[in-house]
Amino acid sequence: MITIIGAGPAGSYLAYLLAKKGKDVALIEEHSKIGNPVQCTGIVTGSIEKFVKLKNSVVANKLNKVIITSKNNKTDAKVDEIVLFRDKFDQYISDLAKNQGVKILTTHKFMDIKNKNTIRVKDKKNNKIKTIKSDSIIGADGPSSSVARYISKNQKSRFYIGMQAKVKLKANQNEFETYFGNSFPNFFGWAVPESQDTVRLGLASLTNTKHYFYDFLKKRTGKTKILKWESGIIPIYNPKKIIQRNNIYLIGDAAAQVKATTGGGIIPSFKAANTLCDSIINKKNYNKEFQKQSGKELLLHLRIRSILNNFSDKNYDHLLKLMNQKKVKKTLEKYDRDTPIQLILNLLMKEPRFLLFAKKFKGFF
Ligand SMILES: Cc1cc2nc3c(=O)[nH]c(=O)nc-3n(C[C@H](O)[C@H](O)[C@H](O)COP(=O)(O)OP(=O)(O)OC[C@H]3O[C@@H](n4cnc5c(N)ncnc54)[C@H](O)[C@@H]3O)c2cc1C
Repeated sequence: MITIIGAGPAGSYLAYLLAKKGKDVALIEEHSKIGNPVQCTGIVTGSIEKFVKLKNSVVANKLNKVIITSKNNKTDAKVDEIVLFRDKFDQYISDLAKNQGVKILTTHKFMDIKNKNTIRVKDKKNNKIKTIKSDSIIGADGPSSSVARYISKNQKSRFYIGMQAKVKLKANQNEFETYFGNSFPNFFGWAVPESQDTVRLGLASLTNTKHYFYDFLKKRTGKTKILKWESGIIPIYNPKKIIQRNNIYLIGDAAAQVKATTGGGIIPSFKAANTLCDSIINKKNYNKEFQKQSGKELLLHLRIRSILNNFSDKNYDHLLKLMNQKKVKKTLEKYDRDTPIQLILNLLMKEPRFLLFAKKFKGFF
């Protein structure tokens, strides 16, 4: 028996893959309804379809253009992005798992692990404690993972605080906006339409997030009605994080498998699920396999983030000016952010002045 804690995208997708390989899998979720509460913008690149074929009902919108704004500059680029209804998407992935025979226990909260292979869960409907014997235990329990403490007590995670609200706002439905500079320190702001009059507006930062968010909300929308809060924390990738100890594994946000440039964690967690499924089936070392398959890419995102975090408004203005060239736009259109190594190498070939920003990449490629 393999037990996975957390029926977010990482846990459900891994459960689906393992069950497809004939494994007996239980998926434990503390909420009564999978996919709720939503704490995500739900943007993914078209690469998601390399992992799962999406059905129309999980897609809120499709985006073909991004408008990138700095203090005194603006540019745009063609994109191929999908905006998901995260609640419906999570339910869809868990249905894929269920149809492969995965046993899903909702309203069950992971409590602790006893004697290496016995998990205790609490049935929140009646507060009864149940035990489940498992050969493998997987923590797919999100950024504040409780399973992570059984891998190491000393691995402290770092987080961005993401504040997002769904607001009433007229929008060009197929375009989304990103905002960079001193008003969005250490990360960026976004306005992502889910329809012509509903936008997911948010930003993330390391500190004072509330202050920056309300400032952004006021400037971008004037006074508008907040329909729903969808805030949450975004773990910062740590290349040294241990994600397997004996029969206990971490995946998704629990393993901080998130792109530090964008905060996107859905596609990296699907990639990691394939690696973990293969590691369990073929008895490979998941720590090493994950580094081999995804480590370099996520490290590149982290390096780009650390460069951007030192950018002033003037640096961003200059970067956007370089990005506004036809040859650069063409390259940006060709590679998405899920293939960052190819994207950067091609950008540097087309526009060597990007090297001005890239001293920290020395020795990377
Ligand atoms: C504001 C914001 C915007 C974002 N926007 C994007 C975006 O546009 N695109 C993108 O790709 N990513 C985005 N992300 C990141 C993305 O949401 C995460 O990377 C993704 O949800 C990770 O999936 P997961 O399955 O690892 O964890 P989660 O989605 O957090 O799922 C974990 C599951 O475990 C359950 N759980 C937790 N503890 C227990 C327990 N003790 N017992 C039982 N169950 C438990 C939870 O209820 C939950 O269902 C955003 C994040 C934030 C905060």
